[in-house]
Amino acid sequence: MIRIAIQAKGRLNEDSIRLLSEAGIRIDESKRMLLSRSSSFPMEVLYLRDDDIPQAVADGVADLGIVGLNEVAERTFDLEIVRKLGFGRCRLCLAVPKSVEYNGLAWFEGKRVATSYPRILAKFFTEKGVRADIHDIAGSVEIAPSVGMADAIFDIVSSGGTLVSNGLVEVETVLASEAVLVANRSLSEEKRAVLYEILFRMDAVERSRGMKYILMNLPQGKVDAVVRILPGMKSPTVLPLAQKGWCSLHAVVSEAEIWEKIVQLKELGAEDILVLALEKMIP
Ligand code: ATP
Ligand code: MG
Repeated sequence: MIRIAIQAKGRLNEDSIRLLSEAGIRIDESKRMLLSRSSSFPMEVLYLRDDDIPQAVADGVADLGIVGLNEVAERTFDLEIVRKLGFGRCRLCLAVPKSVEYNGLAWFEGKRVATSYPRILAKFFTEKGVRADIHDIAGSVEIAPSVGMADAIFDIVSSGGTLVSNGLVEVETVLASEAVLVANRSLSEEKRAVLYEILFRMDAVERSRGMKYILMNLPQGKVDAVVRILPGMKSPTVLPLAQKGWCSLHAVVSEAEIWEKIVQLKELGAEDILVLALEKMIP
């Protein structure tokens, strides 16, 4: 049994559950408790605040975790970052009131900067040789300059809308973040094997993303020409039809190219073209 910690509620919760479910790991949300067992995979899911996930995994309370890279970087626990997951994208940025004349990092010298990410910011300022005064505050960082608590902020930005509505402009990006799968550094061999199984399944889903399964009927004489424009995983599958001189051809095509391919296929005499969704691809 392997245990994974995911965010109980918030921005990463839904995508974390979706990722597990695409890998065939179903969790019954209606019967959800702090710790729930998957009905389809030997896994327990522990629901936590995202702030607590890095420590839970580092301490071995959970074997795996799904959490923002920003939290991993801030908490500084020794964790294995297994892979980036492509959701929860955001960046940690320095922002200043739009009225100031910003002239580069030297502007921050001696300034008060409010943030909930003091360690990441302190490391950045040290690397850049800037001496600023870091104010560690728990929330509502973006209003700190307007109430006189700080001269600037260091916070998470995704669209930038919150900054604009608080009269701030983004001036430096310090960390690009997204959700990551993390693991305890000393997983047992059995647990590592389960982790590899999960990664294998995630890869299969990932590979199929943006891909479509296409099938069509085709005059036998056109097969070679069609194979040239539809390479497929190895090469397209060709099956005979009951009607003499015709066959059915199946292939995998990237969604981005699908319309262009359909035009070419029709010109070559393909008929009854079907495009189907692809869920998993295992080479
Ligand atoms: P919790 O109750 O679990 O502590 P939280 O309020 O700290 O939740 P959320 O706002 O749900 O956290 O954000 C979780 C993660 O989502 C962030 O740590 C970050 O990695 C990512 N994220 C993506 N876009 C944004 C955004 N615009 N603002 C904040 N976080 C974002
Ligand atoms: Mg949090």
